[in-house]
Amino acid sequence: MDQLITGIHHVTAIASNAQKNIDFYIGILGLRLVKKTVNFDAREIYHFYYGDAEGSPGSIITFFPYTGLVNGRHGKGMLNTTTFSVPSSAIDYWQQRLKRFGLNFKNPQERFDGETIIYFEDSDGLGLELVFNDKDKRPGFTHGHIPPEYSIKGFYNIEIWEEGYERTAGLLTEQLDHQLIVEKGNRFRFAPTDTPGNYIDILCSPDSMKGLAGSGTVHHIAFSTPDINTQAQARVKILQRMLNPTPILDRNYFTSIYFREPGGVLFEIATAGPGFAIDESKERLGESLKLPAQFEQDREHIEKTVPPISIHIDQYR
Ligand code: ZN
Repeated sequence: MDQLITGIHHVTAIASNAQKNIDFYIGILGLRLVKKTVNFDAREIYHFYYGDAEGSPGSIITFFPYTGLVNGRHGKGMLNTTTFSVPSSAIDYWQQRLKRFGLNFKNPQERFDGETIIYFEDSDGLGLELVFNDKDKRPGFTHGHIPPEYSIKGFYNIEIWEEGYERTAGLLTEQLDHQLIVEKGNRFRFAPTDTPGNYIDILCSPDSMKGLAGSGTVHHIAFSTPDINTQAQARVKILQRMLNPTPILDRNYFTSIYFREPGGVLFEIATAGPGFAIDESKERLGESLKLPAQFEQDREHIEKTVPPISIHIDQYR
């Protein structure tokens, strides 16, 4: 049978301040805002999507900024680290850049062959890494304020902490078309194919505390499926594993199903298309507030409720 799941689609996290979130991900990290909309389940909260030029699956990190929300806690049953891919030659550039903007980071560490990692956190404490590698051949995106040869290419891997890896591994390999790529110590890396952008690292962390939701934590991870037919087939497999998936929901830019994996992390399966250029041109992605048709009648109220934001590039050169 063809592969139903092709890799990571997006990661969605919770933030506490819309402007700080914009400044961090566009200003410091240099990602592109590919969509500015609202949470379809809470229409007075923004939903920001950042990614590469087009918001390709495997590059998209999204946020719900709930103003003033208290911090959560990293721990078991949570996706604690999202790792972005940059070229090996960019290591001095990024260390200087993080320092310049006052971000604390851990000393570079080797992980698997050809991967040097730097861990840091965003303004809410969300766990992030840069992995310096030459395996990733995707072009990066830049607004011009980060040299193109040093810019972020998208995700490399994500890291989930679990009591034990076996049940989540079973779901990944039996229902989600993943295979074990490599393991070392308590880290088990899975992916549908051995390509950067799609690695799911499960860390066995029985001694860590349970994660708590709040700002600076990940809400869910979405896997990519080609279209609504493969999504429906994947949904049947999730049903057969008794994981109680939602019906297929329309998210405007993709359709989605959600279910909780055995370790407690919320998983989503999202279609690769239609993508972010369905309601604004590729050149102008993210520039104006986009709402699904059913919210348009509330546009005036929504625009008054969400905090004003602006994008500053020059001060992050
Ligand atoms: Zn999602």
